[in-house]
Amino acid sequence: MACLCCEDAAYIRRMNEQQKLPDQVIAGRVRVEDSWIRGEVWVTGESISAVFPGVDPSKTPGVSRLDVGDAFVLPGAIDSHVHSLSYGGEGVAAATRSAAAGGVTTVVEMPFDVPDPINTLDRLHAKQDMVANEAAVDVAILGTLAPDGGWREAEAMSAAGAVGYKVSLYLTDPHRFPRINDLELLNVMNAVKDAGGTLCIHAENNEIVHGLSDQQDPHDTDPRVHLRTRPPVSETLGVVVALEEAAYTGVRLHLCHLSLPRGAELVSWYKGQGTNASLETCPHYLTFSEDDMMKQRARLKINPPLRPKDAVEGLWNELRAGQIDIVSSDHAPWPLEMKTKKYILENASGVPGVETLPTLVLGQALQRDPSLSLFNAALDAITITPARRFGLSSRKGSLGVGKDADIMVFQPGDQAIDGSAQHSNAGWSPYDGLRPGGAVTHVFSRGTLIYSAADGLNVTLGRGEILTRDEVK
Ligand SMILES: [Zn+2]
Ligand SMILES: [Zn+2]
Repeated sequence: MACLCCEDAAYIRRMNEQQKLPDQVIAGRVRVEDSWIRGEVWVTGESISAVFPGVDPSKTPGVSRLDVGDAFVLPGAIDSHVHSLSYGGEGVAAATRSAAAGGVTTVVEMPFDVPDPINTLDRLHAKQDMVANEAAVDVAILGTLAPDGGWREAEAMSAAGAVGYKVSLYLTDPHRFPRINDLELLNVMNAVKDAGGTLCIHAENNEIVHGLSDQQDPHDTDPRVHLRTRPPVSETLGVVVALEEAAYTGVRLHLCHLSLPRGAELVSWYKGQGTNASLETCPHYLTFSEDDMMKQRARLKINPPLRPKDAVEGLWNELRAGQIDIVSSDHAPWPLEMKTKKYILENASGVPGVETLPTLVLGQALQRDPSLSLFNAALDAITITPARRFGLSSRKGSLGVGKDADIMVFQPGDQAIDGSAQHSNAGWSPYDGLRPGGAVTHVFSRGTLIYSAADGLNVTLGRGEILTRDEVK
């Protein structure tokens, strides 16, 4: 029997006979099944044309070549939770430039925009125009469905390209980010099931959070006042409501930004029953505990809130066990003046994070487990799984032949995150000074190098494409 390298050489010879040379080659550590070996990714035009084990420049004479040594050559990340327009000072250009610089080559855009949420066909079309003019990377757009019959818009918006919807069980803003009650949620789920797409849910119990908020002193300066308004049960109750209604209706459910291992366990139980459900957590829940709020104060005011240290460890265990489908940033680019008010409850909730998503997730996974098994789970959670869940996997999420040549290079190391160097207009990062275990050094979007650590961003606004949904069942 021929040895593996002879078989590889024969395979490469065969491929060379069949196919012309690529436009460029990226060599480094590539994933074959679940092992990592030195290999080559061939790029032709905007697509991946081959992935080979082994590195041999003589096979591609004259072809442009980037060899990153032992650094990881990975699919570009998909951040399935980005608010580019919830704060008017950010916008699609800044958020997608920030994405590009961090290795995020696909953004799934949230619908709770200022001044108006994306809850009608006209507003969806207007947002598509804006994205087409401004985006630096590719963007999939979510709609939302207003209370009192807004679910009737789903059919038209899905047909026009919305990849899904997000609604909230908790009232954040009556116009932009309203509450959908349990009865309306049934209508929403039935409508989304018929129209197609993924239904994302912000799961927090409205009565508990608003009731506890009303009991607090609005002039309290203790950061923990935010934690007191949102106990774990306020989140898990929302999770159960969403899961029960999804089990009943059969919608394709995605639970956003879960902060508790208990939430992941609930989702796993429902999946075992056949419910079409997935969940995401975020780097802030994997990095910070509620103790960090005493240091960073309202900078770390986030909904749902940070949790105790054992919950952080529990989330990593759930990720390792394959119980966390997706990790997203929930990028909320508030400027510091909206995060440093004296009275805690007056501050905006959320943190910027699209640019740091890949580095934090991959680097911390490597720090925790050099064997790469946790790294593999972390990688899937920011690439292939969000691609599949949002109907984008025909083009995105892997380095398969024929897929878009969206590639990020991740170099393990001890570089610190510099919050002031981020490309979001937020101008700060809660991770400033953190050494997450590596950095993204090169980013390609559809074959074009749009970022390198050495030369920075080189990206044209408007080059990003609007992604529509693969046919998903
Ligand atoms: Zn949310
Ligand atoms: Zn969000």
